[in-house]
Parts: sequence; structure tokens; C-alpha cells
Amino acid sequence: MSTNTRIYFDNAATTDIDPLVAEAMIPLIKEGFGNPSSIYSYGREIKSVLEGARKSVAQLIGANPGEIFFTSGGTESANMIIRRSVYDLGVKHIISSPIEHHCVTHTVEDIDRLGHAKAHWVALLEDGSIDLVDLENKLKGLKGEKTIVTLMHANNEIGNLLDIEKVGALVHSYDALFHSDTVQTIAHYKFNLKEMPVDFITGSGHKFHGPKGVGIVYISDKVKINPFITGGGQERNMRAGTENVYGIVGFAKAMEIAYAKFEEEKAHIVSIKEYMRDQLKQNFPEISFNGNQGEWSLYTVLSTAFPKNEKSEMLLYTLDMAGICVSGGSACSSGASAGSHVIQALYKGQANQSTIRFSFSKNNTKEQVDIVITKLKELLA
Ligand code: PLP
Repeated sequence: MSTNTRIYFDNAATTDIDPLVAEAMIPLIKEGFGNPSSIYSYGREIKSVLEGARKSVAQLIGANPGEIFFTSGGTESANMIIRRSVYDLGVKHIISSPIEHHCVTHTVEDIDRLGHAKAHWVALLEDGSIDLVDLENKLKGLKGEKTIVTLMHANNEIGNLLDIEKVGALVHSYDALFHSDTVQTIAHYKFNLKEMPVDFITGSGHKFHGPKGVGIVYISDKVKINPFITGGGQERNMRAGTENVYGIVGFAKAMEIAYAKFEEEKAHIVSIKEYMRDQLKQNFPEISFNGNQGEWSLYTVLSTAFPKNEKSEMLLYTLDMAGICVSGGSACSSGASAGSHVIQALYKGQANQSTIRFSFSKNNTKEQVDIVITKLKELLA
């Protein structure tokens, strides 16, 4: 299906593949079918391509190559970290928040239901940011008990950014482990994992113009866990199954491209988001914005709340009919704002709004914003 006639403002759900990423993958798809585990030269050549990709990714985020493992994406990576921390590291308590991606919340709930570890949900402040006082109280209360804290770096629905440095330092000061779901921020913010107080982070290729079905998990050298998927010695015995070499090469290429024009592209996306916010405020004075604004807001996401009425409730549908792709919350699940656990948690179940999330990429333009505003005026008139 062509996206040329559409306006795509749903880049937190997924991004289009960069043509240079596709270009890097195609020769490998056509000719590079060797199995990286084979010992003859054809296998070894592919293995070296795979290890080159790992080295490149590691170098860009300030990790050692031995700390990077390729997976099928953010969901698998989060499952691996949380479940293996319980199985292998004696974790008995998991502190998380109600507005994490479901790959975290459902995993924590499952572990709690099975009685393998106890879930503790940290309170939120009014704007949806993590209540650090409550987090510290919870850590204090669990002192001496093996605990992991899993809090996302940026929320995919409302864009709240966590002060990962501050939270990581706090978590470590109580000798707890720290995992941050960085799926929305990896390749959008610069990381130096040698300095960052995290034990685990997770990432996904399709959020930064790479392929789908490939992600990473970073496991600090200081922590040792066993594989989540067993049945082979791939990924240095940490993830069984023949590697998705094409995807991995695409992942590394997408990351290299993101880093090559980092500041320039970030500035462009920031300008689109600001323009959109200004235009919305100007044309719909009754609009409000969900979550943090300003410095602690992910620059790719703008979550808006239109007053609830018959027309605004139909917006997701009517915008879609007009060829405008946005989402109501998380496109990873239902795509409907009513189903958004994040909006529900943010407003304590009292949300009386129609939520539209606009999320931007380097490919969006101010002209597209103008078209969307004109359309919104028409649809809400
Ligand atoms: N975590 C966050 C914050 C996300 O936005 C997503 C995807 O939407 C995921 C995890 C899951 O990643 P994947 O699609 O690679 O499984």
C-alpha cells in the first residue's frame, strides 16, 4: 500500500524504513544467506557481518559489544530481562509503573500472578511523571530484599521523559537493579552506557527507520543472567535461534544513519512538533495536552486532548478516512483512546476527552501540519 498520498503522524507506532537501510539489507537478502553458525567460510563471512553490526551499535551507545544481544524486538527484550532477573538473580520484588508499555506491565502482572515475585506499582504525579518520593519510599520499604525497578525512559503515548540518570542513581543507591525500556528513545537521544546508571535497556529497530522484528537488549557486564529463549548457542549462548541477520544489519544501519544527522534531524522534528502545538492552540483554544510539556517531553510525541463530543469521538476514524494516520493512544494494542491504560491511569479513570497522539519523524513537514489543521477544522466544525 502506498503511503505517498497519506500523511503519517504515527511515528511512535512505527517508522518507515530509511531507503539506505533497505539498500544495506538487499544485497544480504539476495546473496548473504549463509548461516552465521556454519564453520565454513560462507558462514564465517556472515558471522563477521553480524559481529560488525553489533560492534557498530555498541560503539554508538557507549557499550561493550559483549553487552549487546540482538532479539526480535522490544517486547522480547523486556520479557527476557524481567523474567530472567526473577529466575536467575533471586529478584523477589518488581517496582514498575501503571503507564509502562504492556510488554512490561503484562509481564510484571504475570510474574506476580504466578507468585514468583511481587509487583509494586509506583504512584504518578498529576502530569503522569513518576512520583520519585513514592519510588524512594518503596525502595526503602524493600531494603534488603532483591528488587528490580523497570521504568521506561519515554512514554510512547504521552511522551513523558524520565530522568534516567537521577532514577538510576536512586535505584542503585538501594542496591536494586534498574531496567529502562528505551524503545522510544534509543537513536533519538544519545546514550553513553558506560556512564549511565542502568543494568539493562531495551530497543527496537522499527522505531528509528529500521526494520521490524529486530531489537536489542543491553545487559551490563556487571550482571549475569541466563537465556530467555533456549535451544542453541547463538548470541554467545544468550538467545537461541538462527539470527535475523538481515534485520540486524538493518538495525545497525538505521542507527548509524540516525547518529550521522542527529542534531539536524532532532531540530527539524522539534520544529514540527512546536509548529503543530502552536497551530492546534491557535485554532482549537479548548484543546489541552496530555503529560509533560517542555524539557521532559519526548520531542517526537504530542498527545492532545480534544473536548469530548460526537465529532471529536469520531476523529480517529474521520482522520483515517482523510488519509491522515494518527493514533488514539498506543497503536501497539487497540489504537483506541478508550482502551488506553496510560490515559486511564493519568486521569484515574476519569478521562473525559478524545485523545489524539501525533508523533513525528524526520520525514514530516510543516505543510503536512497545515493540511492536518485544515482537515481538523473541517471535521470538528
Ligand atoms: N516499549 C515501548 C515503549 C514501545 O513503544 C514499544 C512498541 O510500540 C515496545 C516496547 C515494543 O517493541 P516491539 O514492537 O519491538 O516489540
